[in-house]
Amino acid sequence: MEEKKSSILKGKKGLVVGIANERSLAWGIASCIHQHGGELALTYQNDALKKRIIPLATKVNANNIYEFDIQSYEKTPSFFENISQDFGNLDFIVHAVAFSDKEELKGDYVDTTKNNFLNTMEISCYSFTALIREALPFMNEKANFLTLSYYGAEKVIPHYNVMGIAKSALETSVKYLAVDLGKRGFRVNAISAGPVRTLAASGISDFRYILKWNEYNTPLERNITLDDVGGASVYLLSELSSGTTGEILHVDAGYNVVGMKNVNAPDISKV
Ligand code: NAD
Repeated sequence: MEEKKSSILKGKKGLVVGIANERSLAWGIASCIHQHGGELALTYQNDALKKRIIPLATKVNANNIYEFDIQSYEKTPSFFENISQDFGNLDFIVHAVAFSDKEELKGDYVDTTKNNFLNTMEISCYSFTALIREALPFMNEKANFLTLSYYGAEKVIPHYNVMGIAKSALETSVKYLAVDLGKRGFRVNAISAGPVRTLAASGISDFRYILKWNEYNTPLERNITLDDVGGASVYLLSELSSGTTGEILHVDAGYNVVGMKNVNAPDISKV
């Protein structure tokens, strides 16, 4: 059982969408929520991922786990009805979902196909808006929504390509959604996480190079961990951040403030 750290999220119930395995950012977030007293329902994308999520769900006392493909919009209303009946209405939803054809996460952005552009935008951006809209009738007061972005939304990162455009749109969605939902007292935020070796990240060409580059060039001179993302999520999902919405919080060991290579960083091509 995960160690308890605080009761900041005691009495709060939430859904985490996007755990593929124990390396997933969504898993870092779920385990941290659990350590701070929150109650969880989880989803897995398809049967192939089910066997990985069951032992993880046990670790965070999540008795309600659902198969959920975020593109199956026709099932979404009944999905939230089922959660509400089994688990109760929700205080928060974490969306940690992205996808693009890995063949297009190499080479030049200009070569993006229409099909992959639309699919990437749908899964990685539109799904957050659609999920929130369908969930609204089943949310408690002061509800909170959180999604995950990356610096490739702001600056060009080699091979991030169409995913950078999807993340830019996602970050802008966070701002529009914050205004739409602010009048209900609901908050919408994103974490822009530094690179972490996950299943999704393995589709990005030269990801090892990106990790090394960040390790040497972030102000903290290290890469981030799942706990770094988990801790920031607990802050954003709790009343500690009650005045914060529409925010893109960088959890990137400070990389976004850096303008040049760290003078002490070795030449990565020789590492
Ligand atoms: P991951 O592979 O562990 O998680 C991605 C998840 O998206 C998986 O659980 C997958 O099942 C789910 N998914 C994809 N298509 C789906 C669909 N149609 N329906 C339902 N689920 C679907 O990888 P991750 O890196 O933990 O990614 C989580 C989020 O974090 C993504 O939004 C990603 O862009 C973002 N992020 C990752 C990094 C990184 O370096 N790993 C950095 C910043 C942001």
